[in-house]
Amino acid sequence: SPSVVWFRDDLRTADNPALHAAMDAGPTFALYVLDEESPGIRPLGGAARWWLHYALVALREELGRIGVPLVLRRGPAAAVVPAVAAEAGAGGLFWNRRYGAGERRADAAVKQIARSSGRRAESHQASLLHEPWELTTRQGGPYKVFTPFWKELSSREFRHPLPAPEGQRAPEETPRGDSLEQWGLLPGDPDWSGPLTEAWTPGPHAAHELLEEFADAALTDYSEDRERPGLAGTSRLSPYLRWGHVSPFEVWHAIGRRRREAPEGSAAFASELGWREFAWHQLYHHPDLATVNLRREFDAYPWWSAGDGGSMGDGGEQAALLARWRRGTTGLPLVDAGQRELWATGWMHNRVRMVSASLLVKNLGIDWRLGEQWFWDTLVDADPASNPFNWQWAAGCGADASPFFRIFNPLTQEKVHDPDGTYTRRWIPELGTPEYPEACVDLKKSRAAALEAFRSLPRNG
Ligand code: FAD
Repeated sequence: SPSVVWFRDDLRTADNPALHAAMDAGPTFALYVLDEESPGIRPLGGAARWWLHYALVALREELGRIGVPLVLRRGPAAAVVPAVAAEAGAGGLFWNRRYGAGERRADAAVKQIARSSGRRAESHQASLLHEPWELTTRQGGPYKVFTPFWKELSSREFRHPLPAPEGQRAPEETPRGDSLEQWGLLPGDPDWSGPLTEAWTPGPHAAHELLEEFADAALTDYSEDRERPGLAGTSRLSPYLRWGHVSPFEVWHAIGRRRREAPEGSAAFASELGWREFAWHQLYHHPDLATVNLRREFDAYPWWSAGDGGSMGDGGEQAALLARWRRGTTGLPLVDAGQRELWATGWMHNRVRMVSASLLVKNLGIDWRLGEQWFWDTLVDADPASNPFNWQWAAGCGADASPFFRIFNPLTQEKVHDPDGTYTRRWIPELGTPEYPEACVDLKKSRAAALEAFRSLPRNG
């Protein structure tokens, strides 16, 4: 009887322990389930759906080379996966673990149903360097502060990546699946995907090319260049890690091999991978990371959120400001360049993400959850841990967050990080002409108002 390998956030054949285990157990077929119904699993945003479409095209091709057919199905995982296993008369089900609460609930249900029908059901570690429940503070709880978390985690040995498995003789029969086109993951009319197609090639092949190129060309100067959005100073691996086209183990060891030539760059880069782990650590221990302030005293902060009027301004004005922020017409060049980069390519440089988020939540007084949702819909690397984690960090209400009183001045940030205007001019052709708008907010007054609101929170008075 065949094995089923259930693909999720691990769309690759190399360093894929579930795929290995499935193929060791017998002739294998692969399954991907588009699950937009299970409670607690966040439906993908628009840019992510675009990515997924091409990621599945790439996966099918890659699996084809080793003789593993890919079956696509749609619906709630806890119903669909056992049904496919039953249809195929599968002997075993194999997958790599996920860490969100809704995902874990679905996986536990699948495991339970499979085992009660006498099938093997087996999960593996592939998407994180650590299992969030295994790494605890001396008191036995989850980590709240990054430095000790990373000190502990980075002192460990991580397994070496597994090679892609050898080809197999495909199972005689596989259950019928949906056609990818039927899922309608690509945008219709208007089709906004042109610039995304130019910017990205989803799939493991491009991920490994980027990784090698980055390690050879940019790693040495990473610590400095990573702060310059006008340069190609960072790896741009985030969507590839998000979709599992490359595993953190592969990245870790590729960078580790350059430790001698680029000691500073590789340490700085490794700790960024550490922030990714830390974000998932937080999500595992706080499943409602995208909705609830980790520091509950911020529940009293008078952020404006659509619908409630708030108390930092009148609703009409805030709604208009939110629209200008989204479109990149705030009149603050660094923020506008970032928001336009995001809209066009589904990605934004990290420094600019921080400045843009700070402007939204602190100067414009808009609830961080609205910014988080916009990023969720527009980022190709949007992930259920890193996105809310970083928004809470930027808003000051998160774990080990940036202190609230540190409010970025977007004009100063621009001078420091884009001194020759390479980045802003790239994204704002009308910069310096009368068409470019005035700043939508008085930075000084709005800063004072935010600090005042912060000081009046219960525990900060
Ligand atoms: P590099 O500098 O090359 O870093 C290497 C890898 O480390 C990245 O690919 C990423 O996987 C990881 N990483 C780096 N910084 C962080 C970080 N702060 N938190 C978590 N992981 C990190 N990153 C996402 O992957 N998905 C998101 O949805 C996301 N949302 C964000 C929202 C806000 C408001 C902010 C301020 C940051 C967000 N980030 C998110 C983190 C960071 O901006 C991106 O990971 C980074 O810009 C990706 O570019 P890169 O691959 O070139 O990074």
